[in-house]
Amino acid sequence: MGSLVYIRLIGYTAGTLLQLFWMVVILGYRRQRNFERVFFFLCLALFLFYGGSLLALNAQIYYAAPPAVLTAFAWTALCAGLCFLPALLVHLHLEYAETRELLQGRIAKRLWLTAVYAPALFFALRAYPLLSSPNGVNFVSPANSLGRVYGVWMVLALIVCADWERRFGVIAPDFAQELFHRIMAGCFGVAAIGVLTLHVVHPRNANESFSTALAYVPIVPLVVLIYYVQKHNFLQIGRQRNLVYAVTVTFLALLYLSLIRRVSIWMEPTIPPEATASILVFLLVVFFEPLQRWIGRRLHETAHTELDRSQKMTSAIQQVARLGNSAKLKEFIERWVKEQIELADARLILQEGGETSSLQDSGAESENSFEIQQGGRRLGRLEVKPHGAMLSGDTRAALEFLCEQLPGALDLCRLIEEKLRLERELAERERLALVGQMAASISHNLKNPLGSIKTILQVQLENPELPESIRGETKMVLEEIGRLSTKLNQLLQFSRPAVRGGSAIGSCDVRVVIEEVTSVLSHEAERRGVRLQTEASGDGVRVAVSAEALNDVVSNLVVNALEAAPRGGRVTVGALASEGTCVLMVEDDGPGIPAAVQEKILQPFFTTKPQGTGLGLAIVARRVAEFGGKVEWESPVRDGKGTRFRVILPLAG
Ligand code: ADP
Ligand code: MG
Repeated sequence: MGSLVYIRLIGYTAGTLLQLFWMVVILGYRRQRNFERVFFFLCLALFLFYGGSLLALNAQIYYAAPPAVLTAFAWTALCAGLCFLPALLVHLHLEYAETRELLQGRIAKRLWLTAVYAPALFFALRAYPLLSSPNGVNFVSPANSLGRVYGVWMVLALIVCADWERRFGVIAPDFAQELFHRIMAGCFGVAAIGVLTLHVVHPRNANESFSTALAYVPIVPLVVLIYYVQKHNFLQIGRQRNLVYAVTVTFLALLYLSLIRRVSIWMEPTIPPEATASILVFLLVVFFEPLQRWIGRRLHETAHTELDRSQKMTSAIQQVARLGNSAKLKEFIERWVKEQIELADARLILQEGGETSSLQDSGAESENSFEIQQGGRRLGRLEVKPHGAMLSGDTRAALEFLCEQLPGALDLCRLIEEKLRLERELAERERLALVGQMAASISHNLKNPLGSIKTILQVQLENPELPESIRGETKMVLEEIGRLSTKLNQLLQFSRPAVRGGSAIGSCDVRVVIEEVTSVLSHEAERRGVRLQTEASGDGVRVAVSAEALNDVVSNLVVNALEAAPRGGRVTVGALASEGTCVLMVEDDGPGIPAAVQEKILQPFFTTKPQGTGLGLAIVARRVAEFGGKVEWESPVRDGKGTRFRVILPLAG
């Protein structure tokens, strides 16, 4: 038996095992994509080719005349592989081109597919008669049995693939991928030349060593692919280390077993096969020590790289956290985790208020969900979706590590956000204080002359000799002065940090204050044709608010309500004590507060009225904050109309 036969034996075995390896990896990886499916069938076709050849070769070695059934079986497998190989090769490239967006349109793809699969059927039909009488076929260069046309078709397919690889190389995002596609293009080119010379130009006197060399060519890309998957996470399988390691170890073990068997047969003339086998099995023990060292080093390295990666990941997250924007941080974490750990998707779900885990455990049931906890408190969870069927152990560890670091980053972000908000608020308050001071001094300076003018006009009005025309105008001027002084009063109320006397805290009877305000404003209500009514709630309720502060609150709310209510409308003021608080309520049946301005109505100087100051509700908000109450509103109340303000007042005692 010549050395060429051995070389072929090794080549076919390697080819068969390699295809099997890839098929197992793809099955274990189970990514639902056409590319993976076609890749699987391509490996299957190559597996049939190599497996059939291997079977035929073994039969040739062991039997003087191989049994016809065996030969027929081997030939069938080989033919099946050969017939579909060119079509699958092109199909795989089409699928990849589609993911790379090089191939657009369904029709183009359909045309391509029809063009490549139609010949496959033709050759399958052509090979069929050979299956019943395979004794004459040449297993060394089997493609010759399918005729020269097959060679031409194969060459064409290989050229198309080489061209696609060249194009993939051009648009490759990094050097590693570019190099990979160049190697692939090279392999396809060499294969095309090989097939051309062997099966198209000289099919009759095919050189045996040349054919053997050609059989080795398809092994190269698949080995290179393993390297790239491992090193550069090609096809995103690289992250599935469990799978790749497990399959590799199993195949190495299989290879070693077949080596033992073969060596035992070689040594049979000198040593009994059982003895050789035992020696070879126990020989592995010698490797135990170096293997352990090697694995130790590898584990160390892996741990280091993973730790480095995790640390890099968390430090980037910390940096974003320092910007003090929770929404941005969440978005960044999702994007960053997805990118760094190479996942199909990552989602961060944060629980508001961080309640303890109990009811909402529903999210934890999925194994791709990672809890984020801090001191037993559940802050949320990180949900990820791997590209393949499952997460590998190291990815899982990296994600767990990350989730331990996340609470710190989230806290930091929240604190900085809070600090920024306080700073903004302080600046705003300082600005308002300045405005307030100015307003106070202006209104103070205007109040006295205005008072004098008012008195003079009132005295003039009492003069019976005043002509009627002037009397009317004087009345109008007096009315205007009244309005002006209300506005000045509002300005003063607003600029006072707390009510005269130093504080908004004191105590008073809500009923009394409501009564006071409504009686003062009853003239205004009458003038506007609005019914102003109070809703009595039994006895008076004492609240821990000074009468002046409460007066500011009620009067501003009632004035707004009167201004909003239509002629013939109604304004209701009421107070109700319950559970340690008293709720003051002012309701009108006006048009309501438009949704667009609801956010802004408490801001000082925000108004929608041509004559408004925009200070009424700002004063209310300020007073309420001073005595530690709460103001809320509802608008519209019913039938798309009306507004109801509610102020929560602390009860006295
Ligand atoms: P002003 O009354 O001077 O406009 P306020 O601070 O009192 O300032 O009110 C701010 C704005 O809130 C008003 O311009 C108005 O648009 C809205 N608003 C307040 N109360 C009511 C209400 N009862 N009905 C409808 N809109 C209201
Ligand atoms: Mg107002």
